Amino acid sequence: MTDELTAELQQMKARELAEYGRIFLFAGGHPEALRDVADPSIALSTQRSPGQVWALPAGWVRIVNELHHDLLELLGEYVVTRADQKAGRLCYDIAPPSFSDAVQHRIAGAEDESRHTCELCGVNTSKTSIYAARCTRHATGAGHRIIGAIARPPGESERLKAADP
Ligand SMILES: [Zn+2]
Repeated sequence: MTDELTAELQQMKARELAEYGRIFLFAGGHPEALRDVADPSIALSTQRSPGQVWALPAGWVRIVNELHHDLLELLGEYVVTRADQKAGRLCYDIAPPSFSDAVQHRIAGAEDESRHTCELCGVNTSKTSIYAARCTRHATGAGHRIIGAIARPPGESERLKAADP
């Protein structure tokens, strides 16, 4: 990544923090982020505020879309109570909770894959850490990590299109 781009991203991080009190951008506003669209059939829990339920790193949308597809086959209907990054890997909690081995195994598989997938751009990476999953292009030292990107919540792209055809 060029020094100019890194500097620009650090400015974006400072601006988001000052204006919104958050240190991420939505994927469409981040020049380095994967812009895969979350499957609009993923249902989010309404029991908690939207920001607490959905904070999925942009680079993991494919992993979650594939997981969702398989969970629908295993479970039928379910809702997501939390989709975000925790300790450098995907955290995907669902309701009602399932204790089936097949479901647990499938979710664990997705969580494991996320550890090796850059949370920003989605490329495979052999670098893993308990802080973030970043490829060599997007890995930076403590304190200099460039701002992350959150995927737009499921269905939001459709709603935006409908509002502005
Ligand atoms: Zn990357």
